[in-house]
Amino acid sequence: MKALVKAKPEVGLWMEQVPVPEIGPDDVLIRIRKTGICGTDIHIWNWDEWAQRTVPVPMVTGHEFAGEIVEIGRDVEDLRIGQRCSGEGHLIGHHSRQVRAGKFHLDPETKGVGVNVPGAFAEYLCLPAFNVVPLPDGIDDEIGAILDPLGNAVHTALSFDLVGEDVLITGAGPIGIMAAAVARHVGARHVVITDVNSDRLALAVQVADVRPVNVLEEDLADVVHELGMKQGFDVGLEMSGNQAALDQMVESLTMGGRIALLGIPPGKSPVDWSRIVFKAITIKGVYGREIFETWYKMIAMLENGLDVRNVITHRFGVDDFREGFETMRGGSSGKVVLDWS
Ligand code: NAD
Ligand code: ZN
Repeated sequence: MKALVKAKPEVGLWMEQVPVPEIGPDDVLIRIRKTGICGTDIHIWNWDEWAQRTVPVPMVTGHEFAGEIVEIGRDVEDLRIGQRCSGEGHLIGHHSRQVRAGKFHLDPETKGVGVNVPGAFAEYLCLPAFNVVPLPDGIDDEIGAILDPLGNAVHTALSFDLVGEDVLITGAGPIGIMAAAVARHVGARHVVITDVNSDRLALAVQVADVRPVNVLEEDLADVVHELGMKQGFDVGLEMSGNQAALDQMVESLTMGGRIALLGIPPGKSPVDWSRIVFKAITIKGVYGREIFETWYKMIAMLENGLDVRNVITHRFGVDDFREGFETMRGGSSGKVVLDWS
């Protein structure tokens, strides 16, 4: 089968012929139809320090997908051939205390599809049946292919009660933009999104009813004043990994404000802890999606009017994958989806 492989320890990915994976008794084989390119895939393409430390070569990459089940392991009971699905790309173990307590998303032994085990940028993917998420008819393949990052957005946005709250999102990448749409959907009052890239802020406005702020051009304190917030935002969703953005978030939060951190800073990132203490701010780190609570919630929201379609800005056939990766590496696109069908 065709697959996008990290075949050499250097910049790039290569389309290669590899064997169709053999499934075990608890797995299914999925014929891939659409895949999303993630920031993680760009790290692997770029072969940066994180990728070199993490990804064994050769490795079939990719973890954002939708497809159809074509083969079922002998012990799998509740799935059928022909079932359309996406799936959770974090594979958990069975040993840790967290998993045995039912907190699957906190398993320290988590392995990543397309990072530590062969991935979804391929004609076929082997996935444990446990990780499969069936897709209802109302969710098509390209939305199915971006449920992984939408799940990051949903997990982060639902970390705190947003109903009637003023929400600041720093970073209008695909995930920040989708988090803005979720915040709106669940009933936030004001939703403000910041970035330094005006293309991305323009995209945010196309996807969600948000107030965009280019922090290079506008002072966030003026926006707080303009929107009539007395003290500042109630909740911050950090989605840039940028030090200045986090500082700005802490500054513009109200007393007792809450922050959910999804963005990954490139290295150690100093924080003015006394500001956190005196403002009595609560901070929560967010990793991945809650397995499977986030999936249930996001599918329910999509079936009830949450619309993130416009965050997909580019679609390519998989043979044009290079163009897809170049578009993502440009840093101004929304989600880029590759078609494998
Ligand atoms: P992205 O890189 O596409 O978007 C980040 C955005 O932040 C960019 O548009 C950038 O211009 C903007 N930005 C840079 N400086 C800024 C500043 N000073 N103020 C405001 N915005 C600024 O990333 P993405 O794919 O949308 O993902 C968002 C973040 O979440 C990334 O840091 C990513 O690594 C991280 N992530 C974490 C998890 C997790 O499980 N914790 C999962 C997926 C992604
Ligand atoms: Zn992803």
